[in-house]
Amino acid sequence: METRQGIAVSPGVAIGPAVVLGAEGFRIPQRLVAVDIVDSEVHRLHGALQSVIADLETHEALASARLGRQYGAIFAAHRQLAQDPKLGGEIERLIRENCFSPEFAVSRVLREHARTLQKLGDGYFAERAHDLLDLEKRILQHLLGERREELAHVQSQAVVLAHNLTPSETANLDKKFVLGFSTEVGGKSSHTAILAGALGLPAVVGVGSFLAGVSGGETVIIDGHEGLVIIDPDEATLARYREADARQKTVAIQLQSLGPLPAQTKDGVEIKLFGNIEFPSEVEHCVECGAAGIGLYRTEFLYLEGGQEPTEQQHYEAYARVLRAFPGKPVVIRTLDLGAEKFPQTMQQIIEATPNPTLGLRSLRLTLANLPMFKTQLRAILRVAALGDVRLMFPLVSTLYELRQARWLVAEVAEDLAEEGLEHNPKPKIGMMVEVPSAAILAEEFAREVDFFSIGTNDLIQYTLGVDRANPAVSHLYSSADPAVCRLIRQVVAAAASRDVTVSVCGQMSSDPMFTAFLVGTGLRELSVSPNAILEVKQVIRSMTLAQAREIAERSVLFDVARDLESYFRGELHRLCPQSEI
Ligand code: PEP
Ligand code: MG
Repeated sequence: METRQGIAVSPGVAIGPAVVLGAEGFRIPQRLVAVDIVDSEVHRLHGALQSVIADLETHEALASARLGRQYGAIFAAHRQLAQDPKLGGEIERLIRENCFSPEFAVSRVLREHARTLQKLGDGYFAERAHDLLDLEKRILQHLLGERREELAHVQSQAVVLAHNLTPSETANLDKKFVLGFSTEVGGKSSHTAILAGALGLPAVVGVGSFLAGVSGGETVIIDGHEGLVIIDPDEATLARYREADARQKTVAIQLQSLGPLPAQTKDGVEIKLFGNIEFPSEVEHCVECGAAGIGLYRTEFLYLEGGQEPTEQQHYEAYARVLRAFPGKPVVIRTLDLGAEKFPQTMQQIIEATPNPTLGLRSLRLTLANLPMFKTQLRAILRVAALGDVRLMFPLVSTLYELRQARWLVAEVAEDLAEEGLEHNPKPKIGMMVEVPSAAILAEEFAREVDFFSIGTNDLIQYTLGVDRANPAVSHLYSSADPAVCRLIRQVVAAAASRDVTVSVCGQMSSDPMFTAFLVGTGLRELSVSPNAILEVKQVIRSMTLAQAREIAERSVLFDVARDLESYFRGELHRLCPQSEI
């Protein structure tokens, strides 16, 4: 039995056989092939090369259309390599003359060339070596039939262990078969972590390298409460976990009784508790928990789920489904927040080729650089806004000019719809995420130009502290309880109040019961939380008075390091609501 500690990101316990996806993901199964099948092996090689070329052509066309020709050129360069007859000939020769398997021949030729380039030095040559290794991976994917996306097709119940799962891979996990997952990399507020919660899959990330010793098929326990991964557990451990799991389910059933009860403090102050969703299918859960509406709909998952760019009608239908679940209640639709770690397969290389993707072309910047894509979504939002209380929210706003550009575009789209005679609401409420320090600092100025703010603590923490939200090596520095973050939140709430703009928090901080009293105490009356946290947060709200919450917020300014402030909040939660699971 081997126990590894990681970061708990989605509660629950999963027990099952392991399916392992290694850092590179590919094993080269055999070195030599029989002489009489050499011809068919060469044929297989050329088939794989043709498929790679076809894939690259698709990516090239999509990237050029969406992001511009310079991005399409990344794929074009790889395609030219794959089409190079000298390279193909060299691989074929190794199969014919040495009876190497196509997999081994591909690896050998491409790795040798990559090594030669690497020896020439950094910079340009290193980049080209990287291109060759990338091409190797693509060809092997086709030869071995081990495409990562086939993870979605795991056909029996299993626990997935991987070096990394991108948000789009996570979004495509099939819940019928995947019991839970653990990754070597990743951080508490990474999108992969958030998705694990949305899918209700127990998950532990940031475990560090542990896959080399796991071959697959072993029994594994994922403990999503304590952040443990236990490989080959002994009988006693298995029994203990089965018991704990049953206890946990009883607590969850008890919490369900809070569903129909209002989210109000003991002295009757109502706190609007909204749900954060990534998929329309999550709305039913939010309704059962008594959510006041949807405070954050992360629409980029429409792109990540299917791997295809959704049409205007597909956007419209997804939004209409969410709206129907909450008649007369607010549904905040956030425009696409693609980029950084959230990108469809087709954008993988663009993002990887961008230094500092978190600071690069992501989110609102990406959509403002891709007007056709952005307008398609805005048209769908304005159309669906004719059916109910739809609110439109822009992510990652960092300057007033950007916000104005986005608003102009909304007006332009409304004019187009009017000209076409399509039913729509030209003026839904428009809000913005406050998740970049510049927006928090200029909150008073921004408040003049929007109807509402939603504080995105996941990114606000990352950008304020300069700590990657998905990197386990710095996860000890990533804290919602950092005094700098808490001060920014207080300032944004005060700025919103001074201009009569509503404000909520939709980052993961609001889903952690430890911070509920602080947030309410600073003046927040709206919180948007993960569906699986609605009842727990409601329980805390119902256990305190407004005066208690205010006192906690006031005293919080006395702490100047995150660790102390976190212990203070933890202690206060225990005092107010001892039954809350922490
Ligand atoms: C945030 O940054 O807090 C947020 C809610 O947005 P996302 O997690 O999707 O980046
Ligand atoms: Mg964000």
